[in-house]
Amino acid sequence: MLLTTIAGSLPKPPWLAAPETLWAPWRLPREQLAEGQRDAVLVALKDQERAGIDIVTDGEQSRQHFVHGFLAGLEGIDFGRRVTIGIRADRYRAEVPTVTGPLCRRAPVHLGEVRWARAHTARKLKFTLPGPRTLGDTLADEYYRDRVGLAMEFARLLNEEARDLVAAGLDVLQLDEPAFNVYMDDVKTWGIDALHRAVDGLGCRTAVHICYGYGIKANIDWKRTLGAEWRQYEETFPLLAQSRIDQISLECANSRVPLSLLGLLAGKDVLVGVIDVATQAIETPEEVAATIRRATAYVRPERLYPCTNCGMVPLPRAVARGKLQALGGGARLVRRELGVA
Ligand code: ZN
Repeated sequence: MLLTTIAGSLPKPPWLAAPETLWAPWRLPREQLAEGQRDAVLVALKDQERAGIDIVTDGEQSRQHFVHGFLAGLEGIDFGRRVTIGIRADRYRAEVPTVTGPLCRRAPVHLGEVRWARAHTARKLKFTLPGPRTLGDTLADEYYRDRVGLAMEFARLLNEEARDLVAAGLDVLQLDEPAFNVYMDDVKTWGIDALHRAVDGLGCRTAVHICYGYGIKANIDWKRTLGAEWRQYEETFPLLAQSRIDQISLECANSRVPLSLLGLLAGKDVLVGVIDVATQAIETPEEVAATIRRATAYVRPERLYPCTNCGMVPLPRAVARGKLQALGGGARLVRRELGVA
């Protein structure tokens, strides 16, 4: 119990991509890139194993950004036609590609990455894909011109992809939906349906990660506007509790999310964020343990998975490594108290 995992991403080595940067450009020439990415995955796996993380990821070492990795493998999206738009309800501006034709997945996008990671760790393996709502929010669409239709099309393609990845030995398939904390009405009317379509028939555990974003300035400024208590989850958790998704990931470290909202997720595994990714201060294992203990008031330890608040890709590597150690160490402390060490 209290099995640890991470939201998904880890910093890339400086020889692979510019450090501490979102959408960081690759630093290797095209002919060396795939090999460099594979090497970086080995380091990411090793760092997690050393820290005692139970359910590991590939650290998202092979994608430039958590959304654009999957998009880059699809037909119908023109990365040559990048435009700068406001995303997440105009919270910040990002340069995004454009949908210019029917979406099509000619071949698996991430299968090689999952096979490589699966072959190099004996731990349980999780892989992350962007969720349909967030995908639709992180591009320009000049073809479908129908937000729901586009998301459902993405959900269909995600399901095709996920089936291939699960067949390669995945234990957990996670969909990242930070947009679920922004477009609350969409979550209610069709967001959960889109998730269901994406995970339909998968033979593994399924997770959805919802968060308040990386620790970039635009997000920190946004959080200041959310008041003393962040209650976005209060609207979505009852819907997710009724859904067919197995695990829900949320942020609890240094966030203003009332922990009582965890009580809305009865019957689900809860990935409780106990590591703040918006600060370079490294938590102590005792601090992590304290957050876990507080969460056990609402989630049984068998259902509680200590996790990071969000991806750690923008952090310095040494900081991320320290936070991984704190995550593993904090969970060990609480397990020991519960007599299951
Ligand atoms: Zn996140």
